[in-house]
Amino acid sequence: VPATLIDGRAVAAKVRAEVAEEVEQLGSLGLATVLVGDDPASDVYIRHKHRAATEIGIRTVDRRLPGDIAQDDLLALVEDLNADDELDGVLVQTPLPDHLDELKVLAAVRPEKDVDGLTPRNAGQLLLGRPAHVGATPLGIMRLLTEYKIRIAGARATVVGRSNIVGKPLSLLLLGGHATVTICHSRTEDLQRQTLDADILVAAVGQPGLITEDMVKTGATVIDVGITRTDAGLLGDVDPGVAGVAAYLTPVPGGVGPMTIAVLLENTVRAAKYRRGLLPFA
Ligand code: NDP
Repeated sequence: VPATLIDGRAVAAKVRAEVAEEVEQLGSLGLATVLVGDDPASDVYIRHKHRAATEIGIRTVDRRLPGDIAQDDLLALVEDLNADDELDGVLVQTPLPDHLDELKVLAAVRPEKDVDGLTPRNAGQLLLGRPAHVGATPLGIMRLLTEYKIRIAGARATVVGRSNIVGKPLSLLLLGGHATVTICHSRTEDLQRQTLDADILVAAVGQPGLITEDMVKTGATVIDVGITRTDAGLLGDVDPGVAGVAAYLTPVPGGVGPMTIAVLLENTVRAAKYRRGLLPFA
């Protein structure tokens, strides 16, 4: 039996409908994005985020800065956005050009507005088991697992990739859900040994076809986060042959990608609630 494809577009539509209702109740909401330089992939992501926000009535501010901007000028802009009372969420699109200290810039975002969960405060809260803002991609993956009633507690989860934006926070969320978590990366020896053990296997690398069917346990749930642009279209990290062994699989496109956008809107609503004192910012 071929794997059930997890329909990220359908779940994302459901999330957007929930968020739209909340936006209506909360009144005016604002989300700012900051893009440094002209990376084409980042430009596409930013445009998707703005379109989705606008569609449900969230006002957006699109700040674009030259690739050679000085760090202090970028920090000053972030301070302006922090202080702007019309803005609930502030997102600095990564990766930043090499001459900038990315962690320092991300840390400058006011934690209540940090919808990507990349400030030390939010990252630390997640580590300590009291998550506040957590990035949209890891949260979106957790929502997909919940929607499809995939068992997390007690399951063996292997996450391939350890970035601050996907691999690490997702591993912590799975751990918080009582999975037994293994984190793999470019220095992992014998990757197959780790992946074969997984009830839930997540690939967040950016290498098309990295995960082949001989690396997947029969009946596993496979989440493909990877996005690589090729002439043949978008490719994930998971080889199509995996559909022959997995029970559930997220397609690329149409799996994790739409969830990232929808959950960013959800995070903006949460930011608005923090700022208005409707939710305690712990
Ligand atoms: P990074 O490049 O920051 O991280 C990639 C990770 O993969 C690193 O931890 C790296 O290890 C690891 N890695 C590299 N090669 C191997 C290998 N051969 N075996 C095992 N691990 C390996 O990427 P991101 O986390 O930002 O993104 C990952 C992918 O997900 C990309 O394709 C990106 O486009 C996509 N993405 C998709 C999103 C969506 O909404 N669908 C959202 C965000 C990202 P090491 O740490 O040792 O270098």
